[in-house]
Amino acid sequence: MSQAFVRLDRLSKSFGPVVAVDDLSLELARGEALTLLGPSGCGKTTTLRMVAGLETPSSGAISFDGQTVVSVADGVNLPPERRNIGMVFQSYAIWPHMTVAQNVAFPLKVRHVDGAAIRERVRAALAMTGLAGLDDRPATRLSGGQQQRVALARALIHEPALLLLDEPLSNLDVKLREQMRLELKLLQVRLGLTLIYVTHDQSEALSLSDRIAVLNRGRVEQVGSPRALYERPETPFVRDFLGKSVTLPGRIKGIATGRVAVELACDAGAVIDCPLPAGLDLSAGREVEISVRPEALCLAGNANGHAGTLHGVVEAVLYQGERSECEVKIGGAAISVYLPPDTRAARGDRIAIAIARDAPRLWAK
Ligand code: ATP
Repeated sequence: MSQAFVRLDRLSKSFGPVVAVDDLSLELARGEALTLLGPSGCGKTTTLRMVAGLETPSSGAISFDGQTVVSVADGVNLPPERRNIGMVFQSYAIWPHMTVAQNVAFPLKVRHVDGAAIRERVRAALAMTGLAGLDDRPATRLSGGQQQRVALARALIHEPALLLLDEPLSNLDVKLREQMRLELKLLQVRLGLTLIYVTHDQSEALSLSDRIAVLNRGRVEQVGSPRALYERPETPFVRDFLGKSVTLPGRIKGIATGRVAVELACDAGAVIDCPLPAGLDLSAGREVEISVRPEALCLAGNANGHAGTLHGVVEAVLYQGERSECEVKIGGAAISVYLPPDTRAARGDRIAIAIARDAPRLWAK
């Protein structure tokens, strides 16, 4: 990325013996929404807090728009209030003794903006976040969703260069979370916000981000667009963390132009014709794994050109309205297949499942 707006350069942070963030580098373009995604304890919050200035790195540097905000080597460390950021936390962190308008106005008050300008900007911020008319409501008399909107309005009112959000929706119920997710996305696009979003919720990350950085033990495992990460994960960790995957062991039977035939261990005689991956040392007889997303599987009769067929026995059918999730036992392996809701499959049925032609990915074992 040639014009990085935010640059995290070889950041590390240790707490005593615990290495929370380990040599992490990332860049964001202006107007980009980047999500830090990963399991609990992988260093997401610590990274965000270093960007905010709430935590000092053990080593490394961060710059905004070419200006260093922290550099351990150069002894630079701007306090949070000099970094021009807005922050929204999971816990809302709004002040209970203030009204909605007083909460939202606070960042302007501490910047000594004059009264008339404050009133106008509060009005605009409340309208933008769906809080119009609630100016004088005490903060304690708001629903969870409204409190989070107040936190968002307060974070945006001084027009920060960068918005940092740490699990902002995880205290909301499912329906409200989905609604707020959409509103946040629309707001980000409309205002051209540059934001870093921390979550361990993969569907939130997939739908909100321009790019996702998957973190594992304080390191960036892979960074890319949601589609690239979902469709072309580079490591088993990313493959398994982002969405469901069926993984089956096998052995290479033969290699032809652009394709590899893999004989599966769990389904005697089943041979899957996989696209040839780049950068994998392959030879006949080598043990490998293939992985497939459940949506790339269908009943064999419905397949239109496929990479191979698996044979198994239905263990359970979970009806879910728009589809049924079918658990199928294939030899020693169990896989999930999504079937149209009108499919008549029942426990104990023998079924044949086709794998979409370009869906299987090959992994070294
Ligand atoms: P979660 O999703 O659970 O919030 P996270 O990915 O945000 O996790 P961090 O909160 O950044 O992870 O924590 C990374 C590691 O650093 C963890 O092992 C955590 O226990 C440790 N850690 C974080 N803050 C401190 C601290 N102030 N003192 C000691 N250890 C800490």
